[in-house]
Amino acid sequence: MSGKLFVIGFGPGSFEHITKRAREAIQESDVIIGYSTYVDLIRELLTDQEIVSTGMTEEVSRAREAVRQAEEEGKKVAVISSGDAGVYGMAGLVYEVLVEKGWTEATGVPVEIVPGISAINSCGALLGAPIMHDACTISLSDHLTPWELIARRIDAAAMADFVIALYNPRSGRRTRQIVEAQLILLQYRSPDTPVGIVKSAFREREHVVVTTLAQMLEHDIGMLTTVIVGNSSTFVYDGKMITPRGYQRKYTLTADEQPLKPHQRLRVENEPWSLEAASEGQKEGAGSIAAAPSRRADHLDGSLSLDTRAATHDTGAAAAQAATAVLEAPPARQAERSPLDWAMQALAIANEAKGIETQPAASIGARTAASFAPEMIFECAVSPGVANKKITPQQMLALAEAAGEKGELEYTPHHQIILRVPTANPEGITARLRQLGLILSPIGDVVQVKACDFCDGEKKDGIPYAEELYQKLGGKEMPKELKIGFNGCGMACYGAVKEDIGIVFRKGKFDLFLGAKTVGRNAHAGIPVAEGIPKEEIVPLVERIVTRFKQEAFPNERFHKFFQRVGELEGYAWREPAKAEIESAACGD
Ligand code: SAH
Repeated sequence: MSGKLFVIGFGPGSFEHITKRAREAIQESDVIIGYSTYVDLIRELLTDQEIVSTGMTEEVSRAREAVRQAEEEGKKVAVISSGDAGVYGMAGLVYEVLVEKGWTEATGVPVEIVPGISAINSCGALLGAPIMHDACTISLSDHLTPWELIARRIDAAAMADFVIALYNPRSGRRTRQIVEAQLILLQYRSPDTPVGIVKSAFREREHVVVTTLAQMLEHDIGMLTTVIVGNSSTFVYDGKMITPRGYQRKYTLTADEQPLKPHQRLRVENEPWSLEAASEGQKEGAGSIAAAPSRRADHLDGSLSLDTRAATHDTGAAAAQAATAVLEAPPARQAERSPLDWAMQALAIANEAKGIETQPAASIGARTAASFAPEMIFECAVSPGVANKKITPQQMLALAEAAGEKGELEYTPHHQIILRVPTANPEGITARLRQLGLILSPIGDVVQVKACDFCDGEKKDGIPYAEELYQKLGGKEMPKELKIGFNGCGMACYGAVKEDIGIVFRKGKFDLFLGAKTVGRNAHAGIPVAEGIPKEEIVPLVERIVTRFKQEAFPNERFHKFFQRVGELEGYAWREPAKAEIESAACGD
């Protein structure tokens, strides 16, 4: 007889989310020990296993019984936990019992811990992608952990801008902890911080809510709920809670012009505490805000009695009076109060009872924003015109001002000045530059139209076509950057034939070059595919070629490779470009 102990996390509760190893381990076992609700969840997997569930309310006694049956009776015993057995589950307890008995891996029964999908992952998946960045789990259960310690952990995690998954947020008897947690979080995070509330993930009564830190308590939170609090860069998009992978994000004009949601621009520093900011974009309307007071009534009560424990009788009484005053405000006045007002009021009362001065909301906002507002780097290309290459001193000054002390200006090989500046308000910058006649274009994998200066405007016949191309295609997103060179005469001195698509205006008509290899030691000019294209045909023709590239190119595929792969564009066949003989470098590389 050789006993074995499995400690199995069976995931959130649905069949599909149980790992293969967990199934096998359950099937290999002689005995299943677990809380009866959990046994019910996996019942379909059971064959003839003995079940030890009833009369075993104590986790410690379940762990002891498991160890006893494995060690003394030589049985294969599976202790089951929901989620992951190592996350507020049975794994640690089983080891504690074993350690007590002097168990070692070499001499004792084999132990296998089978990992499962924990609530932070299952609930995270249902909410969108809220975890993504540094995150932590905090259990609000103070049955085995002193509340002081839990509160300190919430404070530390909030201060350090962790995404926080709150386990065991509330039960029939433990109702104050989540209220206290909200108050602590509000000291560091904007009230419009996204909060996800998931009840019974992947189980029968699954319920998912995306709300805000200010409004989270207006929703049902219970034993089977996990509350996920976003960090300062978490945003909500289309009902999904999303935390970006990093803080320092670059964005360019394309994003600027495809109206980004305000919270995506993370404008916490602008109006972090306004009612508009808190309620904008939320599903809950004014109704739920008006409903806030009655809910808040319970929690004010709760946080008071918690906090007054340390206070003198007098301050406690004063705080209680203040609370009553808030709660007795006439309904009309209550309806005007934002959830934040309620939270701030509650914080003030709680602080007053402790003799701490409450900072005004704005200064808390400033602190939060200063310490954690992610720096978004806005970048765009700036030029004085499609054909015009001259920058006025005034434009130069405005550019320097736009870059400021933190930004930078870079001059590229493509006749572009790139402006890069950390800001949450790009419109302020772009409006000023545009007002001075500068042309701004997005950068990255977009179409860039590179025209010549048309001999300082003297050979102006081609200019309208260059401008039309710029209007129609400039800045359009592509699978890979795409440069269109446009030169106003056969001299092609701005190197149109060396671009992905080269257009040369000559004797009132156009020559077209496709598929230059623009960089590398084996760089080559574009293939001359057509000469004498009538003026009115050039723009639609190039548009069609670009559209095909956009639709059919693989992500990151350069235009010359794409042309070679598809073999033909608008009837123009790809052909092998003349290859330069490259001597091996004499000294190795
Ligand atoms: N071992 C489990 C956690 C047990 S503690 C795990 O790794 O997920 C119990 C808490 O877990 C609950 O109060 C709730 O916060 C969370 N939880 C467990 N299963 C859940 C589910 N299906 N949906 C939402 N929350 C869940």
